[in-house]
This record gives sequence, C-alpha cells and structure tokens, in this order.
Amino acid sequence: MRIALLGCGVVGSEIVRLLRANAGDLAARVGEPLELVGIGVRRPERVRDLDIDASLFTADAAGLVARDDVDLVIEVVGGIEPARDWLLAALRAGKPVVTANKALLASDGAALHDAAAAAGTDLYYEAAVGGAIPLIRPLRESLAGDRVRRVLGIVNGTTNFVLTRMDETGASFAEALAEAGALGYAEADPSADIDGYDAAAKAAIMAQLAFHSPVTIDDVYRVGIGDVTAADIASAREMGCTVKALAVAERSVETDGISVRVHPAMIPRTHPLAGVREAFNAVFVEAEAAGQLMFYGQGAGGAPTASAVLGDVVAVARNRIAGRRGPGESSYAALPVLPMGRTVTRYHVNLDVTDKTGVLATVAGAFARHDVSIRSVRQDGRGDDASLVLVTHAAPDAALSATVEELRGLVGVRAVSGVMRVEGGEP
Ligand code: NAP
Repeated sequence: MRIALLGCGVVGSEIVRLLRANAGDLAARVGEPLELVGIGVRRPERVRDLDIDASLFTADAAGLVARDDVDLVIEVVGGIEPARDWLLAALRAGKPVVTANKALLASDGAALHDAAAAAGTDLYYEAAVGGAIPLIRPLRESLAGDRVRRVLGIVNGTTNFVLTRMDETGASFAEALAEAGALGYAEADPSADIDGYDAAAKAAIMAQLAFHSPVTIDDVYRVGIGDVTAADIASAREMGCTVKALAVAERSVETDGISVRVHPAMIPRTHPLAGVREAFNAVFVEAEAAGQLMFYGQGAGGAPTASAVLGDVVAVARNRIAGRRGPGESSYAALPVLPMGRTVTRYHVNLDVTDKTGVLATVAGAFARHDVSIRSVRQDGRGDDASLVLVTHAAPDAALSATVEELRGLVGVRAVSGVMRVEGGEP
C-alpha cells in the first residue's frame, strides 16, 4: 500500500513517525506493508527533525498525487485551495483519501463526497473533528440505525482552556488568553478559535453526519467568546452553572429543520460537559434509542491527530485490499437549516436597574409582550441600584433577542450587563 503524504507539519511529521515506529503492527493489521512514497510540502529543502530519506520531499503535490505508484493519499496541509484540487484529483483517479481538513470539508465537503462516490473510493476524515476522539465513525456508522436528536460539543481546546481558567481562577478573558498563549494552547493569531470559526467548521461536519443533510460552515450561527466577562462567569456560578463554548447541532421536531450554532452558553455544573477542563474536547450526543453518549479526549496536537489519521489509513487500506468501499455519505434527509431566530433557546439576562418600586413589573412586562416566559428572577439591592438576574423558559431566539432590545430602552433599566444562552437542561 503506497502512500502519498501531503503536509509534514505538526500533524504530518507525527504521521511519518508513527508509520515508521508502528510499521510491523500496521502491516499485520492491514495485511500489507504501508510504504511512504512521497511527501508534498511547501519547502522541500527545509531541514526537518525526521529520520527519513530527503528525496521523498517534493513541492509538486499535484504531481505526487497523480503518480502511478500512489495507492492512497493523506492530506494534512489544511485550507481550501490547493488541497481541494489535489483531493478531487486523487478521488477521481480512484485513490482513497484520508484528510484532517475541517475547513475544506465544512465548506465544500459535498464535492469531495460526490467525487468519492462517483469513483467508488473512500473519503475518511476522523481527525477533522475532535482530534483523537472517535466521533466521525460513531456518527457515520455506530449510530446509523438510530435517530440523533442533538449533538452538544466542546470542540475547541483553546476556548475551553480560556473559559476553564476564567471559571477556576477568576481570571479575565485577556489574562486567560495570555496564559493559553504562553502554554502553547493558543496560536499567535487566536482569532479562528476565539471567534468560533474552527468550532463552526466542526459543527457543520457533525451536523451533516448526524442529520444526513447538507450543512456548510456558512449555515452555522456563530458567536465567539471574546465578550465573555468575569461577571458572566460569576453569575453562572451563582446559579449552579459554568460557561462553555458549545457547538450545538439539533433537530427540531416541530419544524423538521435543524439548528447548527456555536456560541458561549451556561450549562449546569452537573452536566457531563461541565467537567471537561482545560484543552480537552468532548461531544455529547443524544439519540432516540441509544439515549445519551459522550466522547471525550484530546481534540488536537500532532500525535493525537496522527492517531486518528492512521486509524483511517488502516480502515481505508483494508477496504482497498478487500476490493470494497467503506461507508459513504448521503444527504438524503435534506433537512433545512433553520435561521437562528426560529431556533428555540433559553436566555440568562443580567440587568442593572434602579432600585425603585415598579421596575420589576416593567421588566416583566417586556418579557410578556414578546411571549417569553420567565423561569427565575434574582434581585440584589445595592443602594439606589439593583442587579436583576432573569432566566427564561425556552422561546424562539428572535423573541428573546427582541425582548433584550426592548429592555435596553426601558426607563429604570440602566444597562443590560450580560446576556447568555443556557443549554443542557436545568441547573
Ligand atoms: P502545519 O503544522 O501548518 O503544517 C502544514 C503543512 O502543509 C506543512 O508541512 C507545509 O509545508 C505544508 N503546506 C502548506 N501549504 C502548502 C502548499 N501550498 N503546498 C504544499 N504543502 C503545503 O499544520 P498542521 O497543524 O499539521 O495541520 C494540518 C491539518 O490538520 C489542517 O487541516 C488542520 O486543520 C488539521 N488538524 C490539525 C490539528 C493540530 O492539532 N495541529 C488537529 C486537528 C486537525 P512546510 O512544512 O514546507 O511549511
């Protein structure tokens, strides 16, 4: 089984190491040796800390994919182009592909799946969501006999690290992010993580698989964690919750559509996801017959991600030797993605109000006018001022955000000091 590896950075170099270190076991498991016949990189002349023949490196990735002596292509470069062209060329030539490229799968996964199906070959991508955590295979295979209702995930290690530090030490967002950078958990430019783009790509991929419907990153409603304050974290704590950056994909039975979103949310401290600390990832799946399942582990890093890639390589190589194809992808259900306004959520609202008779009634009136029912109210007096913390029952997001808009203009409301969605049941 002759392999072309595209990319030899954080993940690719670990793939090279594992292919060599585990060569005997891999050959026994596949039934043939796995041989690395070429490595496509941007700078082939670069000196790398790898005990490997330098002549394997090439800057001509397209030429490498097209070579007759390549049976299988691994892509760990990332980004949309040129990776998309290389992978389409490989699939069209009937060569199976293993990739970790969440950005490409979330933006144009359908083109890759179609090319794989047309050529009767495999497209595997366990490493694209949740690093080492087996998640794609459970969604694609183990749960294929069930109906998934909801997927709730902590799928970005950087944001989970930042929010864990804010919760456990009282650090501000900026302090926690600086610590994440110093420990190597955050990139020099952390915006793809902090602004939720990385999690949105993963949410789109999970939604495609869970609901057998076409979902791209453009369908995902996205709010980053940059506006989460120490006061939000303290307020969550007071009501028995913690704040997590969640990727949510859920099916609405009433509308038969799906909601796919990424945003910070308060979840009860008793929820299994609340115990997922630091840079770990976890995905909580609720299915009709299976009930609740949780998948937990290291969501990033060279070796964990390489483990997931090699698991796919073994599966794909076995399929090729047996002359069969693994599970394909189908969007047969074609459920529409609901606009965020029609998604049913719950809000936690923190208000600074004047401590005068009638303010509570005025505030309650705003909720009633938008048909939003209040689940709990807590009031703390502070001289002339008071803080009012309200948690709603579930309501369409459009009604909840219209309520907050009205609250901003009410006499007696000095400021809406915090608004956050609430997920994961009652605290
Ligand atoms: P990386 O360290 O930046 O490595 C990228 C590799 O791609 C390098 O070897 C680079 O070549 C090569 N490359 C970049 N542009 C190229 C081009 N135009 N032509 C040929 N080669 C090119 O990236 P990474 O962290 O390993 O991530 C790779 C993929 O895995 C991405 O899709 C990422 O989303 C995914 N992933 C990463 C992690 C993780 O923890 N890092 C986790 C899950 C998934 P040079 O070496 O010559 O620069």
